[in-house]
Amino acid sequence: MTGNALFYQASGQLPLVSHADGIYIWDVDGKRYIDACSGAITCNLGHNHPAVKAAMAEQLGRVAFSYRTQFESQVAIDLAEELVELTQGDLDKVFFVGSGSEAVESAMKLARQYFVSIGQSQRTHFVSLRPSYHGSTLGALSLTGYQPLEAPFTDITLGSIKVPSPDFYRYQENTLEEHVASVLAETDAAIAEVGGEHIIAIAIEPVGGASTGARMLNRQYMEGIREICDRHGCLLILDEVLSGMGRTGEWFAYQHWGVKPDLIALAKGMGAGYYPVAAMMARQELVDQVLETGGFMHGHTYAGNPLACATALAVVRATKEQELVANAARQGAYLREGLDKLAEKHACIGQVRGVGLLQGVEFVADRDSKTPYPAEDNIFNEITRLAKARGLLVYPRRTLDGVRGDHVLITPPLTVTREEIDEILRLFDQSLADLSG
Ligand code: PMP
Repeated sequence: MTGNALFYQASGQLPLVSHADGIYIWDVDGKRYIDACSGAITCNLGHNHPAVKAAMAEQLGRVAFSYRTQFESQVAIDLAEELVELTQGDLDKVFFVGSGSEAVESAMKLARQYFVSIGQSQRTHFVSLRPSYHGSTLGALSLTGYQPLEAPFTDITLGSIKVPSPDFYRYQENTLEEHVASVLAETDAAIAEVGGEHIIAIAIEPVGGASTGARMLNRQYMEGIREICDRHGCLLILDEVLSGMGRTGEWFAYQHWGVKPDLIALAKGMGAGYYPVAAMMARQELVDQVLETGGFMHGHTYAGNPLACATALAVVRATKEQELVANAARQGAYLREGLDKLAEKHACIGQVRGVGLLQGVEFVADRDSKTPYPAEDNIFNEITRLAKARGLLVYPRRTLDGVRGDHVLITPPLTVTREEIDEILRLFDQSLADLSG
């Protein structure tokens, strides 16, 4: 188990995976883990789902790959239709890709190409939040507001204006409304400095994942951002890579507020861990304009191949048949109740936040002053290590920009049951006791 030829951060230090079923995953030594974070907030249907496996096997038996300039595939057509229907008419067109970063890049490029095609090539800047995470390729990284990831590349990434993300935990103003208003005013001011006519789009995660530990934006903020976009004639890109596909108790997180985007990026839960498949969705008018003026200058070899689309189609159908979006809302509320109880018991919990089955727990050294743990304590990793020792997988991060905070995400598969949540809460409770003990 040396992993010497592998070039990942933790190669050689991790257990070897053996197999998985439902919410459980085993290593080769026979140790069982409860997957309370769906891998990387990805395995929305749990592991080893019979209907997805059957659909994949069936497609694999017919044709796994056909190239999209040579053939259309019915599964791609059906999947696109399903996705459009799930937006209830807000977005009309789907462009398949293979990862979240590619979905974000595609949205950025479609937005830019749209403006070039209507004679507004002076629009050269994106606006995004700090902290945020939008992906690791250079375009998506340009939007990302996450210092350690940005640092080596700041000289070679695109011009993106970073504005603060509203912080519903440590804001200084008297009320939340005042705080949101001040963040929006700061955003306005940053845009005014460049000139609104130079902005292509504002890109936002409606519910932050690793970047903010499940910080959910609110209606006042989303309406404010939509108004800013409309006023400057720029587009609103919502990064639903992590929050989309039912995780928050709606198919897409933006549906909690009804503030409509121009483009969205989807990934993670779309292939649910069974196949890397992702999508960018956009309004008809943008796509028509780009297609009429030479076509979209973008694409990836594996994008929208039949096996990818058959997998995602099976995922969407299973999510509907098993009513998993409603389950995410119901079990998410139950999980939240349990986490709130743990917060009463463990002083290291500063805030529990999130929505549906996208819950985050932020840890603080002092709850009254909301003082973060010293960075060198690596509390987020320590809690994750203790939990893993007890057979519980959670997703650790530290928000290094803006408001700091060690946090973990607790984001079980959308199939999770009440009994499984009880087990997650029991193990998390014990892990937090291990920390103080
Ligand atoms: N956007 C968000 C909000 C994400 O959480 C992620 C992945 N963590 C990405 C984009 C990038 O997705 P991928 O890793 O599939 O490229």
